[in-house]
Amino acid sequence: MAITREQLRERLGGLPRLQLAALPTPMEKLERLSAHVGGPDFWVKREDLTGVAMGGNKIREFEYQIAQAVERGCDVLLHAAAAQSNQSRQTAAVAAKLGLKAVMVGRRDAHATDQGNLLLTRLFGAEVHLPEVEEQSAAVAAKIEELARAGHKPFNTSSDARVFRAVAYVDGALELVAQCADAGIEPDAIYLCSGAYTHVGLVVALRALGIDWRVVGISPSPRDDVAAAEGHADLAAECAGVLGLELALAAGDFESYAGFVGPDYGVVTDESRAALELLAQQEGLLLDPSYTSKAMAGMLSHVRDGWWQKGQTLIFLHTGGTPALFAYAEDLGY
Ligand SMILES: *Cc1c(COP(=O)(O)O)cnc(C)c1O
Repeated sequence: MAITREQLRERLGGLPRLQLAALPTPMEKLERLSAHVGGPDFWVKREDLTGVAMGGNKIREFEYQIAQAVERGCDVLLHAAAAQSNQSRQTAAVAAKLGLKAVMVGRRDAHATDQGNLLLTRLFGAEVHLPEVEEQSAAVAAKIEELARAGHKPFNTSSDARVFRAVAYVDGALELVAQCADAGIEPDAIYLCSGAYTHVGLVVALRALGIDWRVVGISPSPRDDVAAAEGHADLAAECAGVLGLELALAAGDFESYAGFVGPDYGVVTDESRAALELLAQQEGLLLDPSYTSKAMAGMLSHVRDGWWQKGQTLIFLHTGGTPALFAYAEDLGY
């Protein structure tokens, strides 16, 4: 039994939420891309324009997730990932905005230069650590222990209250559905770079509303597609539980492909560079080197392979990440 948009909005309305993002984010038609490819109509949902700290999907996710940190009385937001992590940048900015301490435990990887996201993370006042790659997990554990010993209450934005990141994209899906109605379009598919949370939130919302649009995820990291789908189904069950939705989603409801990653996470491929340049030069639209350029490469490859034709409509959900471009000039050949 599907529920209405109004009912779903009410469920979300009962949860703690911060006001961080500039919403609704725009939805734009990519007419020159459609003409260039000679294929379906393309639209882009600009989650790269969420406002705070040069935008990206974490700003929307943090409205619900970091509201939980505030509820718990946490005073430190911590994040540990790659040196050019978008989430570290967004964590540091939101901590600044909320008057909390930010700690980034990155790693001395190939892009640990003071450019792009790392520069911005420092600028937002985060305490930054860059241990060697193989020492990162020990460094994170040690840092969390040290903070606790000093009387702090750290909140790890990767793992704590993580389900609320998916919940935030249930809200994002309501926004998208309303925009599609306004624009008079019914997408045949939504493409996005699929870590987990944005993808799961979208699918939970669409299925709860009884909308059968296909959601196609493209992974930024090497992984097993079946195992990823199983993980997504578990997260979806948790998300549905938070919202009191009776939904039985299985691994088969989550479609994602790791075939466009190339050699590794964060490594530019010929296809991702071509996609980045195509969108920049046909539409004046910036993608990023690690996430959206690979997702775009995946979508364009599916179009070339005949998955989608003229007359159909695809929406590309742009999850952000563009500040990382400034640490990738060499990788991109400029
Ligand atoms: C973090 C990130 C993703 C994946 O986000 P999820 O929260 O797993 O949906 C995708 N694209 C960009 C640019 C990101 O920074």
